[in-house]
Amino acid sequence: MAFTLSPLPFPKEALEPHIDAATMEIHHDKHHNTYVTNLNKAIANTDADIMNIEDILKNISKYPTAVRNNAGGHYNHSLFWTLLSSHGGGTPAGELAAAINSEFGSFEEFKKKFTESAIGRFGSGWAWLIKNSSGKLEICSTPNHDNPLMDIAETKGYPILLIDVWEHSYYLKYQNRRPDYVAAWWNLVNWDEAAKRYSMAKKMETKNLVTK
Ligand code: MN
Repeated sequence: MAFTLSPLPFPKEALEPHIDAATMEIHHDKHHNTYVTNLNKAIANTDADIMNIEDILKNISKYPTAVRNNAGGHYNHSLFWTLLSSHGGGTPAGELAAAINSEFGSFEEFKKKFTESAIGRFGSGWAWLIKNSSGKLEICSTPNHDNPLMDIAETKGYPILLIDVWEHSYYLKYQNRRPDYVAAWWNLVNWDEAAKRYSMAKKMETKNLVTK
């Protein structure tokens, strides 16, 4: 079973002015596409060839680095696109909002800590809001294309929200100004989708979410 690149769920210019069309086109059509191509090459004729992506990630320590990098690259980007929206931004509602307030004190405090995690990730990587194995919301960051579903992850859990802080996400418009990109990204967060992911995570058993 070969993995395929889904189209962006919105036109490439939809996120202007926060993320420009040229960045979106290169990011999706070139970078993400390359991860899909190289993932398919890396899993050809292995048992991962018939596995779904989450099962591959949960067992990533069994596979070569090329699978780790490209399975992470494919999964993380696929998720990233769904959590962006031209109608996004603002604040979450419902039980996700309540959980954020309960865990971090307030939305503003959560935003500050998540921003620090995204800006503070040295080099290339991602920052995450996850539901961890204790059922709590937690902020973490990962290097390269690692993610919290991976059995090798330092902090494990189910992803609710994520931001790509590789330079390819922002360099054309923001050059070295990662903080400006992260600040702009808050205007695009698809809180409806994040809330759906949180509800789904709550319904699933923790043991099914995280490989110990
Ligand atoms: Mn990227």
